[in-house]
Amino acid sequence: MTDKASTTQQSADKIRSSLLADLADLVASDVDDLTRELQSRVTLGRLTDPAILVDLDGTVLGCNDRADSLGADRAGLLGRPLWVSPLWGATDSSTTLGPLVQNAAAGRHGTRTIDTGSSSERPIRIEMTPITDSDDIPVMLLAELRTLADERETVAIIEATTQALAEAEDIFQAVAEYTSDLVCLHEPDGTFTYVSPSARRLLDHDPASLVGTHPVDLSHADTRDALVQALQDASRRGADPTRFRHRMRHRNGSYRWFETALTPIRDASGTVTQLQSSGRDITEQRETEQSLIKQAFHDDLTGLPNKALLLDRLDQAFAVSRRSQQPIAILFIDLDGFKTINDTLGHQTGDIALSKVAERLSAIVRPGDTLARIGGDEFVMLCAGTDGARGATAVARRILGAFDQPFVLGGHSIGLGTSIGIATSLGADNPTLLLDNADTAMYEAKHGGRGRFAIHDEVDQSIALERIDTEEALRRAVGNGELRLHYQPELDLDSGSIVGFEALVRWERPDGRLIPPGDFIPLAEETGIIVEIGKWVIAEACRQAAAWRLFRSPESEPVRIWVNLSGRQLGDPDLVGYIQRTILEAGITTDEICMEITESALMGDAEVAAGQLDELRALGISLGIDDFGTGWSQFAYLHRLPLDVLKIDQSFVAGLATDRDSATIVAAIIDLAHALGLIVIAEGVETEEQLIVLKELDCDQALGYFFSRPKSSDHFDEVLDLR
Ligand code: C2E
Ligand code: MG
Ligand code: MG
Repeated sequence: MTDKASTTQQSADKIRSSLLADLADLVASDVDDLTRELQSRVTLGRLTDPAILVDLDGTVLGCNDRADSLGADRAGLLGRPLWVSPLWGATDSSTTLGPLVQNAAAGRHGTRTIDTGSSSERPIRIEMTPITDSDDIPVMLLAELRTLADERETVAIIEATTQALAEAEDIFQAVAEYTSDLVCLHEPDGTFTYVSPSARRLLDHDPASLVGTHPVDLSHADTRDALVQALQDASRRGADPTRFRHRMRHRNGSYRWFETALTPIRDASGTVTQLQSSGRDITEQRETEQSLIKQAFHDDLTGLPNKALLLDRLDQAFAVSRRSQQPIAILFIDLDGFKTINDTLGHQTGDIALSKVAERLSAIVRPGDTLARIGGDEFVMLCAGTDGARGATAVARRILGAFDQPFVLGGHSIGLGTSIGIATSLGADNPTLLLDNADTAMYEAKHGGRGRFAIHDEVDQSIALERIDTEEALRRAVGNGELRLHYQPELDLDSGSIVGFEALVRWERPDGRLIPPGDFIPLAEETGIIVEIGKWVIAEACRQAAAWRLFRSPESEPVRIWVNLSGRQLGDPDLVGYIQRTILEAGITTDEICMEITESALMGDAEVAAGQLDELRALGISLGIDDFGTGWSQFAYLHRLPLDVLKIDQSFVAGLATDRDSATIVAAIIDLAHALGLIVIAEGVETEEQLIVLKELDCDQALGYFFSRPKSSDHFDEVLDLR
């Protein structure tokens, strides 16, 4: 027998002896007949030959499914003597089987062959083994049946398989050595035990150097999970290869795509001893696929998403919108007079015009939104996460603004216009209807006189109109003298005295309503009106600082007024010049006015913002970071910016006396701010308990309703007089 065949025989023997032990246990165990029958069936099922379990006088107790294959009917076998069975055909088997059973019952293993007459070509050999209890006394007998033809076949199969295995190994070696694919052998955990020479050409790695390493070391982070999953699946599956796609690192640092089939190699007992992989480099194929996908979903001329991709994104946006309850807005953008350009300057110039329009529109789309070209001169912008028509009108204005400048086409300077239709998901519950609504609105805009936008849906319209009213009123508020500045005192926690004020703007409408900043600052920021409002606030705060000078003695410390700056103001190139001029005109010094910015205001163009802050600091103006803890909350940038003060957001102060987390966070912020040389001010102190904790944590200053609400300046004239 060859080595392989003897290994196979050895493991078959092993299975058999463990099976006999299991059967003995089963007989000794205290279970009912049915259970025993079922269990013996399962146990016998592990034998590859037909097997029948009989008691010491030859009555059949159970059999495995293989016994059926010999033509034995289960019901006909169970509970009857072994020799009364159709298995033996016309042959009287009792004379042969009777002594075999008796011998086995006496503890002797034996074999007999029965010529079954009708199927005489297939004599059956019966091997009878006593199953003994722990004292070696036989309690049951196992009859294993095998037709001689089977046995001859088996020997032939083993020989053929052994030969095939040997050949397969040679073939594997040959294939592995010469294939262009990456062929490898692995430990069951994936570690390389063999890597084909093609690794050198495919990945520029020395195959020998990879042996002992694990494929995840070479895998791209994006496909690492797929690889790990495939390794697990391969060991679990039968003989079918597990196929997956993954990326592997070339020695030059680039990544190649592979389509790999991973096949488990098992020993005779079924245990996976190795894995074999063969990976085909599909990098070029993938690139082609990707470019086909791009072609399928993008417009050739502008490179923008096409209608198919837009519809797909709309589907996703609808799903998100349903969850977030935030409406989606669509802007349907159609060029005015594009046909004339095509007709007079030719299609080529028309194409150039479309590309240039696409460029200008692309500059307006926010990250996360989609701009698509869905036909000739039709573009669609999908804005998710807006507040419906309100946000969309702001976008529409920017789009119209983008057409203010003429386009240079083939040496001509040509003015192009556009009409925009707006619709939101408030008036449509599916992508197609939403697009139709926006299209209808676009026609309204065209009929209304071109170069404008129209809004579909009455719901959308009333919101948008309300906003337009407010926007116009807000624009006039500064000129009409409707803004007011209130002041909230800041106290030093050691001395208990007022060291400054925060200036907080309010809008007094003509009907007497006082609008809090939270209700109009966001709109002012979005429309840019904040720059004008901010200038007014700065001028008014400087004027107030000059007025308060009159109330205090010349020797006393200056009272600082803190002004809130918005991100938009930091983008105004005139900001620093304006502040400088205003301070001079008011006749105060730069230590009387301070500026505070929220973390989110710094998120725009951080470099521009940092430049402006540096210049302000150079003038001698103190700078503070507002609402700390609600934005990035990174100490790294605190360190880089020229800051003097950190204001802890009131949400942390609110929980100070009651929840432990807030106190821990506030303590950490204070310690780190102090380490960076910053003065710490707590915002929103409302109770004495909060104040006590803040003092314990060594906070420097505080402001909040506990001391005073923001009030008009005259409320503080007297307080300052006492200083
Ligand atoms: P902020 O700069 O963080 O101002 C503190 C806000 O907290 C003020 O609200 C103030 O009235 C309120 N506050 C003070 N102490 C307490 C307290 O003990 N409890 C509670 N619950 N609240 C307290 P206000 O005046 O409504 O201002 C809201 C926000 O509007 C300000 O937050 C600021 O971001 C913005 N803002 C106000 N004035 C201006 C301005 O002139 N320019 C700019 N860009 N933004 C401003
Ligand atoms: Mg503030
Ligand atoms: Mg604040």
